[in-house]
Amino acid sequence: MYPAPFRYHRPSSLGEALQMLSALGESAKPLAGGQTLIPILKLRMDEPTDLVDINRLPDLCYATERDGWIEIGALSPHGWVAKSDIAASIPIVRDCAGGIADVQVRSRGTIGGSVSAADPSGDWPTLLRTLDAEVICSGLDGNRTIPIQDFNTAAYTTALALGELVVGIRFKRPDAGSAGSYIAYKKSAAAFPVCSVGIQLTLDPGNVCRDVRIVLGGVGPTARRVIQAESELRGKALSRPPAEIRSHRHGSLHERKH
Ligand SMILES: Cc1cc2nc3c(=O)[nH]c(=O)nc-3n(C[C@H](O)[C@H](O)[C@H](O)COP(=O)(O)OP(=O)(O)OC[C@H]3O[C@@H](n4cnc5c(N)ncnc54)[C@H](O)[C@@H]3O)c2cc1C
Repeated sequence: MYPAPFRYHRPSSLGEALQMLSALGESAKPLAGGQTLIPILKLRMDEPTDLVDINRLPDLCYATERDGWIEIGALSPHGWVAKSDIAASIPIVRDCAGGIADVQVRSRGTIGGSVSAADPSGDWPTLLRTLDAEVICSGLDGNRTIPIQDFNTAAYTTALALGELVVGIRFKRPDAGSAGSYIAYKKSAAAFPVCSVGIQLTLDPGNVCRDVRIVLGGVGPTARRVIQAESELRGKALSRPPAEIRSHRHGSLHERKH
């Protein structure tokens, strides 16, 4: 099916894009990689009057580290993030970004589009919750940062105000002594995971669990922390699971199930 007719706009600066989105109002939509929005338009599940193509906005594809904060620009494609130095040094970022869909989707789809789409099965919202990330939003009144759990308010719903854009996400580099794993269970390669789990574990000497995040994706409207399991582990000395449990485990660390 063809999308309903719409007007196409291509701003060349962030300021111009924000002006346009504010002026055009609720019936306008930003277009990033189009990997979620275009299928929605073709199915006529949404019929915006105007598309504001943000792909030409400069300086929104980056991954930097400053003062202990890692920041990734909203227009960074998944595949680009997977190959970044940041992903090389934080394995769960590489596992998440490099396992999304297929090469085509990873080349076009962006991290900003993914958090804005707020799909309950989306990989980035689960991973970013595991890392206690914040979403950096920009509007005509300036920037604000929103913790990811407050940003994804419900399935396919965010705290973005009318005319605002996501311009980046940021999170603290995990402590030394910290390691993580992100595993997504999928029926086929180029499909959203049925469910996923992100774990980031920080150990003190003696393998005592100082802190842990366990987050599940695809099991509710938004990514969900497993607070009770985290509490069970915190402060305990961890040992390897018995062999009979290890042999029943599906998948290994950093493995993506297809
Ligand atoms: C075949 C297929 C398989 C897929 N499999 C997976 C998968 O396994 N895991 C996964 O996580 N995702 C998957 N996806 C989705 C993919 O990751 C998309 O790239 C992503 O969800 C949306 O990013 P985008 O840049 O394409 O955004 P778009 O499709 O352009 O936009 C999505 C929504 O966000 C809004 N938006 C976009 N950018 C911004 C911004 N900066 N600020 C504010 N609003 C914005 C748009 O208006 C739109 O409502 C799949 C998609 C396809 C087509």
